[in-house]
Amino acid sequence: MQRILVTGGAGFLGSHLCERLLGQGHDVLCLDNFYTGSKRNISHLMGNPAFELMRHDVCFPLYVEVDQIYNLACPASPIHYQFDPVQTTKTSVHGAINMLGLAKRVKAKILQASTSEVYGDPDVHPQPETYWGSVNPIGIRSCYDEGKRCAETLFFDYRRQHNLRIKVVRIFNTYGPRMHPNDGRVVSNFIVQALQGRDITIYGSGEQTRSFCYVDDLVEAMIRTMGTGDDFTGPVNIGNPGEFTMIELAEKILTLTGSRSKLVFEPLPSDDPRQRKPDIALARGTLGWEPKVALDDGLRETIAYFRRIVAAA
Ligand code: NAD
Ligand code: UDP
Ligand code: UDP
Repeated sequence: MQRILVTGGAGFLGSHLCERLLGQGHDVLCLDNFYTGSKRNISHLMGNPAFELMRHDVCFPLYVEVDQIYNLACPASPIHYQFDPVQTTKTSVHGAINMLGLAKRVKAKILQASTSEVYGDPDVHPQPETYWGSVNPIGIRSCYDEGKRCAETLFFDYRRQHNLRIKVVRIFNTYGPRMHPNDGRVVSNFIVQALQGRDITIYGSGEQTRSFCYVDDLVEAMIRTMGTGDDFTGPVNIGNPGEFTMIELAEKILTLTGSRSKLVFEPLPSDDPRQRKPDIALARGTLGWEPKVALDDGLRETIAYFRRIVAAA
């Protein structure tokens, strides 16, 4: 049994991670400031004596005693992270410094939830971990991209300077139950639009591609990464290499929901990457991991979740 801190634990990915760690018999301290997360995501865990919830902002120091830290605190969807961009950079950078300071003091292992956004609008396809990225430092996505890049730098400097046991995972687009219905991300938008019979909003030509990983596969990979030997730091790509255009995604969702919504085309947001697909050779080799859930199966689960949300609204 390990004492595990999950920052951003009341969010989409964090709540699934807390649930899985509790299932493995660990003691879980879920920390969140509820900026985008909600108590509803973790209400089913509240009765568990091994689960503890703490309202706290990672931008401020935190003194607790734990064995492992998963640092997920950060708004993740463009609408949320662009709402208060200065706070987004602070959360990534000050949050990383505080959690690394904590890990240093208590000698905990610490894992950073980084992102495929560190590759920016990539010139190399698919993206291996060795690719340094093509990121605009002054655009509207920069608060998130550069904040996450700086957090990676801090992790590796704490490793070099203080010999911390660090792990960095670069997460590619992940979807599943407990995504926010209004976070503007493509999977949640398309499903909610399809279920409500509203137009499906395709930004740009819809030819841009993304690779979608189901949340259960992602959580499994994060836990396996934490379990690697101290010499393994990553960064390691975690994602599903299946690549789809946004038009293909929309058509799948229309078929699976049985919706008659129409596709409409809207302007492409600036700095929107044209394509994204992980090279997961390192994860396959080091973690013995690869995604198991096909897009259609994961979408079915996600649609079932959103049907309940939409019906209750
Ligand atoms: P989410 O918004 O659902 O979760 C983020 C959580 O962090 C929320 O519960 C939010 O309230 C909390 N939070 C935000 N700022 C905080 C602060 N200053 N102090 C404490 N808590 C704070 O998003 P998610 O999709 O679950 O993402 C979790 C992590 O994974 C993020 O770090 C994100 O950058 C990373 N990630 C996610 C994806 C994805 O596709 N979902 C892709 C790449 C990286
Ligand atoms: N910190 C924290 N919890 C701890 C130890 C440190 O939140 O248990 C914070 C501390 O406030 C500091 C940051 O982590 O701002 C970095 O700590 P570190 O010891 O690396 O740096 P220093 O305190 O020397 O600036
Ligand atoms: N997108 C879209 N319609 C929407 C929401 C998003 O066509 O209603 C597009 C968006 O422009 C991007 C892709 O879908 O090209 C993925 O967007 P998301 O915000 O989910 O993730 P990210 O851009 O961060 O990968």
